[in-house]
Formats: sequence, C-alpha cells, structure tokens
Amino acid sequence: MTKVLLVEDEAPIRKFIQINLKRDGFTVFEAGSGEEGLEIAKREKPDIVLLDVMLPGIDGFEVCKELRSTMPGLGIIMLTAKAEDYDKIMGLQSGSDDYMTKPFNPTELSLRVKSLERRMHREEEEEVNSRLLEEGDFRLDTYSRKFFHGEEEIVLTPTEFEIIKLFLKNVNRALSREEILNVVWGEEFLGDSKIIDVNMRRLRSKIEEDPAHPQFLETVRGVGYRFKATSDQ
Ligand code: CA
Repeated sequence: MTKVLLVEDEAPIRKFIQINLKRDGFTVFEAGSGEEGLEIAKREKPDIVLLDVMLPGIDGFEVCKELRSTMPGLGIIMLTAKAEDYDKIMGLQSGSDDYMTKPFNPTELSLRVKSLERRMHREEEEEVNSRLLEEGDFRLDTYSRKFFHGEEEIVLTPTEFEIIKLFLKNVNRALSREEILNVVWGEEFLGDSKIIDVNMRRLRSKIEEDPAHPQFLETVRGVGYRFKATSDQ
C-alpha cells in the first residue's frame, strides 16, 4: 500500500486531507511541522510526501531540499496558498514533482497522488530486455532506476526519470509538450503544461555542461523538446 506523509501545520486542513486520502486507500502519516515531517520520513520511509510551503520553523522548501538529498526516489507534491509560488516550488532548488494551490478539491489531490504513483512504479511494466537505454555516454537502467553520464551517476526525481526515459526511447525526435505531458503525467493530468518547462530546466542543470546552451536537451521552437543524438553533435 502506498504510504503518504502529510506535512501541514493547520490541523483542520490536515484532517480533511487525511480523511480523503485514507478513503482512497492510502496509508497516511501526519506531521504538523517540517522538523516532525523529516523525522517521520526517516522512520516510516513514505512513497509520497504532501508538503505545505508555509510551516512554522523550517519551511516546505527547506524540507523538500532535505528530503531530496536523502531520499531521491521520493515523490513530492507541494501544497501552497499562493499560485505565484509556482516558479519557486518547481524551481531548480526545491525539486518537487508537482504542486497544488489551496483550496483544492480532495478528488483532484487523490488524482495527482495516483498520477505521481504511476510515474514512480512504471518500471514494473518494463520488459526485462528493454531495461537498459543507452545513448552516447548516457545510460539509463529502468530496473534499478539509475541514470549515468559516463561513470557519474545523475540523481533524478521520479518525474525527471520518466522524462529522460521518454527521450532516450525517442532520440532525435521532436516531442511536443502535449505528448510529453500525456506520457509522463498521464492523459488525465489537470495541471499546467508549464510543469514540463520547469522540469526540463532542472534536467538541463543536471546533464548539460552549459544549461543555457544545451547540447542534448534541445528546445524545438513551437513544438517542445528533443534529445539530440551524441553522433549529431
Ligand atoms: Ca501552512
């Protein structure tokens, strides 16, 4: 059963979310502060963390950074009261997979959690012989969910992992934002397609020598992105 850790300081909101997630079959752990959240995460090893931004003590951004550095495979959805926190939430530093603006519909939250869950467990559908994707010096093992550039391991979030997998299966092909969204986030995804751009920015910062002039993850104007084959460099 999927374990969800909910970090939210407002007890009524926490209760409301908790009830709805339990009803949808999730095991829920609750924390009222960032410090408590980190402690419970370490102990209970959740699959997904729902993380409020405004918390007493260390805030959601700090908690997110800390969780990412110790548990890179974790799925993280940020909860915020302000839509304008978007860029910061999805930015290079914090590393969350998704975000939701309060107040939100509990059904939509469950859908987002399930969509993230699918992204995290998709390798189970892979055939054993297709588990290694290689392109130039890049190597993606879909079984161990590890990604390498030469000898160096590049740690990816579950969302980044799915994006890289899609690109390595389609080297040199321009992929539209819609296509990326459908494959990675699922056709029922209700969020903004800007989410792709922030993830691409983050991926570039991880794999490109100069993220402002990408050698691999190219922007295809008016379409989306493509992963350029090393032999074309
Ligand atoms: Ca709060």
